[in-house]
Amino acid sequence: MRDFKAELEQRREKGLYRWRRQVETPQRPDMIVDGRSVLSFCSNDYLGLANHPDAIAAVREALPETGVGGGASHLICGHHSAHHRLEQSLANFSRREAALFFSTGYMANMGVVSALAGRGDTIFSDQLNHASLIDGCILSRAQIKRYPHADMAALEALLADTDGHKLVVTDGVFSMDGDIAPLPELVALCKQHDALLVVDDAHGFGCVGPEGRGSAAHFGLSQDDVPIVIGTLGKAFGTSGAFVAGSALMMDYLVQKARTYIYTTAMPPAVAQATCTSIRLVREADDRREHLARLVVRFRREAARLGYALMPSDTPIQPIMVGDAWSALALSKALEARGIWVTAIRPPTVPEGESRLRVTFSASHTEAHLDKLLSALGDAQRELPGHAA
Ligand SMILES: *Cc1c(COP(=O)(O)O)cnc(C)c1O
Repeated sequence: MRDFKAELEQRREKGLYRWRRQVETPQRPDMIVDGRSVLSFCSNDYLGLANHPDAIAAVREALPETGVGGGASHLICGHHSAHHRLEQSLANFSRREAALFFSTGYMANMGVVSALAGRGDTIFSDQLNHASLIDGCILSRAQIKRYPHADMAALEALLADTDGHKLVVTDGVFSMDGDIAPLPELVALCKQHDALLVVDDAHGFGCVGPEGRGSAAHFGLSQDDVPIVIGTLGKAFGTSGAFVAGSALMMDYLVQKARTYIYTTAMPPAVAQATCTSIRLVREADDRREHLARLVVRFRREAARLGYALMPSDTPIQPIMVGDAWSALALSKALEARGIWVTAIRPPTVPEGESRLRVTFSASHTEAHLDKLLSALGDAQRELPGHAA
C-alpha cells in the first residue's frame, strides 16, 4: 500500500502543505478567522454581494415557499420554477438564447467539456486553465493538446495539424493571474478551423464588460462568436452555483448529456431565487465596478513602487509574484502578523517557482483598507528583504 503519511510529510517539507482556517463572519473585508480579527484580501466576492442585505432578504423570503433542500435531480423532480426563472434571467443577462444552472462551476466545467468532446476528438487547452477545465478534459477521454498561455501562434499551429472535432477551452479571466484571454483572436482561429470555443468566465462575469456581462461582452463578442460561456455564481454574484449559456439547442444537448448536471441533486431553489436578486445587483453595480477599478489602479502603482512584482492585470485579481513556496508563506505570515489576510498560492495550483500571494479586491474595500494593506506590504518588505522583485 502507498505510504500516505510519508506523502503528507513530504508536502510539509516542501512548504506545500495546505490547511484550512475557520471563519466566523460572513465574507466581507473585516473577518474573524481562528478567533482573530483580520482584514481579508483573498475572497472572490468581488462586488461585495455575498453579504448584501437584498440577497439575504431574498433567501429569507424564498425559504417558506421553496423549503430548504433540492430534493432530487433536475430531471427527476428537483427542477423548481425558481431554477427556471434564474436560467431565463441568466440568459437575458449574458445575452444568450438560453442558460443552464449547475450546482458549482467545477461541475459545470466537468460536465460541459466531457459532453462536448469524447474519444477520437481533440481538446485544445490553455496551459493556465482552471483545474476544473483540466479535469473535464481528462474525463472526456479526448486527446488533449495544451498550448502555452495565450499563445495564439502555438494554438494555430496545433489546430492546423489536427483533423476531426475540435474543442478550444479557455478561462476568460485567468483565475491566478488576472489577465483576460485574447478572445477576439481565439474567436477568429476557432471560426477558421471549425473548432467549438468554450470560455469559462468565472472571474469575468460581474467584474468585466458593460453591466458586468463578462469578457466576451468586454470585447463586443456575441453568442455567434463565443458559442458556449460558463459563469460561476459564488464569486462576483455572491451566492452559489454556476451556469452555462449559449444556443437553446446546445443547452438542450447538455441537459441530455452533461453527467454532472444529470446525476446530482438540484441546488436549494432559495439560492436560485436569491441569485435572481444578485443579477439585478450586478447589473446595477457600475459604481462598485468603478470603485474597484480605482482601488486596483492605486494598488498597482503603490505596490510596484514598494518593489513588488505584479502581473499584467486590470482585474480585481492582483497577484504578487514571489517564487518559491516558503517565501510565499513567509510573506503571507508577515502580512497576517499585521492583521492582513492574503493566502499564499503554491504548486500545484500554480506552476513550480511561481508561488504568489493572490491579492483580490472587493468593492467593499475602502481606500482606508487599501492604506492598511500597502502599509503592511511596506513593513513586510523591510522585514523580509530580497524576497520581492
Ligand atoms: C472558481 C472557479 C471555478 C469553479 O467554480 P465553483 O463554483 O467554485 O466550483 C471554475 N473556473 C474557474 C476559472 C474558477 O476560478
